[in-house]
Amino acid sequence: MPQKPERVFQGTGVSAGVVLGTALKLESHKQLVLKVHTLGHMAEEEVQRFLRAVDLSKTQLEVLKRRLEDKVGREHSYILDAHILMLEDHGLLSEIISSMRTAHVSAEWAVCRATDRLRQACESLNDEYFRERGRDIENIVERLLMNLSGEAHESWAPLPEDLILVGRDFDPSNFALVELEKVRGLALESGSRTAHTAIIARSLRLPAVFEVRDFLSSVTTGDTVLVDGDEGQVTVNPEPNRLAEARQRLEAFQAVLRQSSPLPRSPAVTLDGVVISIQANTELLHEVRAAKSCGAEGIGLFRSEFLFFAHPRGFPSMADQLETYEMLGAEMHPYPVTIRTLDVGGDKIPAGFDLPKQPNPSMGLRGIRLSLKNRDLFATQIEAILRASLRGGMEIALPMISSVEEIWQAKEVIQQVRERLLRASVPLTAEVPVGAMIEVPSAVVILELLSREVDFLCVGTNDLVQYTLAVDRVNPEVSHLFQPLHPSILHSLRRIAEVSRALGKSVRICGEIAANPFFTVLLVGLGYSRFSMNAYAIPAIREFIASISFSSARELAEKAMFLRTAGEVRDFLTETLPKLVKIDLTPYLKEIRSPDDRTSLSYVS
Ligand code: PEP
Ligand code: MG
Repeated sequence: MPQKPERVFQGTGVSAGVVLGTALKLESHKQLVLKVHTLGHMAEEEVQRFLRAVDLSKTQLEVLKRRLEDKVGREHSYILDAHILMLEDHGLLSEIISSMRTAHVSAEWAVCRATDRLRQACESLNDEYFRERGRDIENIVERLLMNLSGEAHESWAPLPEDLILVGRDFDPSNFALVELEKVRGLALESGSRTAHTAIIARSLRLPAVFEVRDFLSSVTTGDTVLVDGDEGQVTVNPEPNRLAEARQRLEAFQAVLRQSSPLPRSPAVTLDGVVISIQANTELLHEVRAAKSCGAEGIGLFRSEFLFFAHPRGFPSMADQLETYEMLGAEMHPYPVTIRTLDVGGDKIPAGFDLPKQPNPSMGLRGIRLSLKNRDLFATQIEAILRASLRGGMEIALPMISSVEEIWQAKEVIQQVRERLLRASVPLTAEVPVGAMIEVPSAVVILELLSREVDFLCVGTNDLVQYTLAVDRVNPEVSHLFQPLHPSILHSLRRIAEVSRALGKSVRICGEIAANPFFTVLLVGLGYSRFSMNAYAIPAIREFIASISFSSARELAEKAMFLRTAGEVRDFLTETLPKLVKIDLTPYLKEIRSPDDRTSLSYVS
């Protein structure tokens, strides 16, 4: 049979790794619903048929939720709570029932009309979070329609091995339906990095590319598909020479997946004996396993907002949070866990917040500002962290600090919570270190003043680059200007290293840059000895550190400080570093691309 033509599609890599497999095209269950009138006396029967479909849908979702909990953990199953809650929403149910009774329409039509309005309202808000909720509504409608039609469904078996799931969308609840052992990757036309499906794909280490425009018509079940989550590329029916090119990376990724014996949790050491500790950044409990197996010396940044995103309505209670933090502490023992307090705002608004749309969200009510405005919420989080500290080493990192007052106010809340708990005879540890995220330029300028108020500093380079260069980190129009090698960033980083050293404050780099050797070498050379990064990046960075000497890194960093542009720094590093180490640095080159090259891949923040 002649080889089908190769087609290459560019999308957004949302979960790293390269994988080859067989396409399983997910067809939408969408049905065509026509406006059917019922006879007056049949309206009640129609209502009963609808209520039976609602009950059946709820039962199915409960089953799915339990299966999802077993497979990928409780934090992901909350998404199904949102679906179940929608099926219990009195307002929605009464609207549907009343249109069946008064307009004498079929249950299917009533469901579609009522939910259409809701979905359109979500989509019109032009907000990532609400767009996702719009998809939740679609999912519920499909389930209701399926159950109204009495159609048999959810029979995925028998699935072929090495599946690449391709489709327009993939609801996270589907992770409970597929045989995960057979799934190798995902390629979707829609989706985004913050969607639950992307989050779960990352924590399951399934390479995934989303936003692959207009590719579904070029792929059918059974096609061979190469998913490159690193480059954000999907190749349908790859030609032999492309496969040959990809072989090494495919094998390397498989080797990483096979690696079962956990790496030792010990620091990295340079050739001349400088000790560098590497911790993990995590968002989900599921990633704790990766943090441990990749040898992380604790969690340097737990992005606690993900706990809040996982809640369909309201906020995680003190008990919910305590359970999570205690688990993190116990898993990481004897290493510490840094809980970054809620860092939401801007485009990241959990369901529980009722915030007005802000004209300039990344400079609006976000991070510590939001916590200080919602003190009860902040106090609840602090209580959970303080209580959890009894079980494991907890630290508190305050996000988006831009002034000394913010630290005073936050510490006042921490102190009040501590005193209240002590009055209630709750056992607590003597001290829980409090640190400031350094990610706003004003924090760098007044670093001496801020440092005196906290126990440690945590440099968030993702935001520091965004705010120093006034370049939105999520806007593709300016992504070529997002330059961590910009002299202003290097000089800020040097200043932070020097001030923290002079004041004896522990400092760690938590932004993505530490996980790229071209930056790591500069950071080591500037005197940083603590990093926190994506767990899966740790082994390679540890190996890189073991292959350089501190003295050569320092010499390199000193020379870089004299350069005038990000381009000059990049050229200098790409020229010098490969001569210093025997490690293949090509995978890291795309992240330090030329500032003039708008077409090359952007720095991933
Ligand atoms: C940062 O800004 O570098 C950081 C670590 O925090 P986040 O990426 O969550 O904003
Ligand atoms: Mg940040």
